[in-house]
Amino acid sequence: MQHDKENIMVILSSPSGVGKTTLTKKIQQKYKNFKISVSHTTRTPRSNEVDGVDYHFVSKEKFKELIDKGKFYEYAKIFENYYGTLKKNVDDTIKENDILFDIDWQGTKQLSKFKNLNLIKIYLITDKEELKSRLIKRNQNTNEEVKKRFDSFDEDIKHWNDYDYIIINQNLESCFKQIENIIEVNKTKLNFSSPKTQ
Ligand code: 5GP
Repeated sequence: MQHDKENIMVILSSPSGVGKTTLTKKIQQKYKNFKISVSHTTRTPRSNEVDGVDYHFVSKEKFKELIDKGKFYEYAKIFENYYGTLKKNVDDTIKENDILFDIDWQGTKQLSKFKNLNLIKIYLITDKEELKSRLIKRNQNTNEEVKKRFDSFDEDIKHWNDYDYIIINQNLESCFKQIENIIEVNKTKLNFSSPKTQ
């Protein structure tokens, strides 16, 4: 994987329903240099989702073809659907921009194998009861899907240790501030460690 020494890749993972999508959008609004990595998925689009913006929605056949051709840096099967990050999208974007990934712990493990990346791994967590009410309020999943997502919480949080930072999302604003600090500290560190050539 090629990368630009001055750009960073931030991974945000969390159990489903913690508020990651809202946070990724806030980060992109504040930091114009950040681009959100748009994944491929075999999941059916939700009513508010746009193809090519929220995800690239593809059939299972198409996804399998992309796996066979080695087109993904990482992919995972989550809640019966496939999700993956295309190599080409990352390689093109990182030349000019920082990248924000909203991917799960399985994808994080796979990306972590590329040791030359400026990868910053953040895990967001919330209280289990709070999570349940968020999943229900979100009203984007059937009862069965809500249950599946809620039940995956315990398995998901076992992977905390794979991350550089853990943030407790009690309040969106304070959570966002912590992410801002992490981004700024890491950007500053990078600027010190890779001085521009004259
Ligand atoms: P949702 O169906 O709610 O949009 O996403 C379900 C889970 O899939 C979320 O935890 C999200 O972070 C994860 N996810 C989305 N895109 C990718 C991807 O490209 N790779 C991996 N490994 N996980 C992803």
